[in-house]
Amino acid sequence: MVQPAIINVPSLQKSITVPTGLFINNEFVPSADSNEVIPAINPATEELICNVVAASSKDIDIAVAAAREAFNTTWGKNVTGFERSRLINKLADLIERDAQELAELETLNNGKPVRIARDFDIGDSVQCLRYYAGWADKITGQTIEVDNKTKLAFTRHDPIGVCGQIIPWNYPINMWAWKVAPALAVGCTIVMKPSELTPLTALKLSELIKEAGFPPGVVNTVPSLGPVGGAALAAHLDVDKVAFTGSTITGRKILEAAAKSNLKKVSLELGGKSPHLVFESADLDQAASWAALGICYNSGQDCTAGSRVYVQDTIYDKFVGLLVEKVKQQVIGNGLEEQSGGGPVVSKGQYDRVWGYIDSGKAEGAKAILGGQKRASKGYFVDPTIFTDIRPDMKIVKEEIFGPVLAVGKFTSEEEAIKLANATTYGLGAGLHSSDANQCMRVSSALEAGTVWVNQYNILNNNVPFGGKKQSGIGRELGSYALDEYTSVKAVHWNFGETLA
Ligand code: NAD
Repeated sequence: MVQPAIINVPSLQKSITVPTGLFINNEFVPSADSNEVIPAINPATEELICNVVAASSKDIDIAVAAAREAFNTTWGKNVTGFERSRLINKLADLIERDAQELAELETLNNGKPVRIARDFDIGDSVQCLRYYAGWADKITGQTIEVDNKTKLAFTRHDPIGVCGQIIPWNYPINMWAWKVAPALAVGCTIVMKPSELTPLTALKLSELIKEAGFPPGVVNTVPSLGPVGGAALAAHLDVDKVAFTGSTITGRKILEAAAKSNLKKVSLELGGKSPHLVFESADLDQAASWAALGICYNSGQDCTAGSRVYVQDTIYDKFVGLLVEKVKQQVIGNGLEEQSGGGPVVSKGQYDRVWGYIDSGKAEGAKAILGGQKRASKGYFVDPTIFTDIRPDMKIVKEEIFGPVLAVGKFTSEEEAIKLANATTYGLGAGLHSSDANQCMRVSSALEAGTVWVNQYNILNNNVPFGGKKQSGIGRELGSYALDEYTSVKAVHWNFGETLA
């Protein structure tokens, strides 16, 4: 047993306890062979919140063994869909009960505004769990006619087994729910590796896993450095599937480790450089609002951040004026203050990375018409920055920045707009704004992206699939599609009449 940390949350006017051990077999335990810790830092103040135990590769082996044991005994095919549904719903209820506390903890460790953590991240996570609880007793295969008189075949959608789930720091609770909910619904067991930057809420949620009544070993949580715990999961011979959200560089490594080990099933949700296209018939005020949301939400640390905006030349000046006004309205501040609409970026590393891009934009000749100046105060705050006068070869136009930095360009024709939008190795999201329905249909069909938003942006629903084309990923999360990622289809051929001579 590892002692929890006691964290004072001024806005809650009380202290909360946060587990700091590895969560294996429903207990918080120390590492089996290491004294390494992971510091959890508050990005708004740059102060240490607490240290948590860092899992070693031996700890990953122990967690995988626990998940395997649970899969073979208390979970997997040994529990009914009704029971899985009941437990997932119970977990959702507990998260809803503790929403404020979880939101404050998310804000302390990630920086995002507490209101957004509570009402959006946690609200959506609860809904996601309930959505998949609804699926748990509806996992069905097919009966397939092969020979009416003597044979039939049927399929079973079996849980794939032990799943390694490696999640990022931008939506720690939300990504946890997106991964855990469909896996549990179909009967998989889980070894969850949260980001080393934001381990606290995954540990707090692990307490709720136990309280909800999940048997030991069904969900295990192992904070660890990516190249240690994440790499060990990706290469593990007894892990049947890895689900990953994060950078394209790491996604590539995971796919390679899976190929070199046991060819485990892999789903990847990676980066993006998502475009908005604003056509002259669009409601410009609305389009500017959606574009501002697209780059400012979560301080731009969003895989679908609308980080490139292309505007038809006839309305360019008017639109850019509106966009600047909307972005200026964003209040960036400490996430614990209710009026903050955006918080700091997550870490010193991310802060330096985003500033590296802002500096490169200036050096390559783009014009910063908003932002682009550092604050003098403490905390990893980056004010939204808008660049115009861009060229396709600039780093700020080509690469994922993962911060509130927007590149704005111009187009003349629809054909040119589509070409500009698709001129990227990524294909995660895309937005188009037009009041011409035929144009919306034509352009949405031509855009190379896993999700296209028409006259809106960044709106997701738990029953609609989400994922990327091109180098933005493999597989789909959410909706019924995610169930396929966690099941293995078995065909059973049944002979009830044919005899061999
Ligand atoms: P990352 O890909 O390194 O981290 C994501 C997760 O992968 C973390 O849990 C990390 O510990 C783990 N990881 C790291 N190296 C690993 C390895 N070798 N094997 C297995 N797992 C490993 O991302 P990052 O360094 O935290 O952020 C860098 C950039 O990635 C960001 O600036 C952004 O561009 C992108 N990113 C994208 C998303 C997204 O949602 N698509 C999320 C986070 C980061």
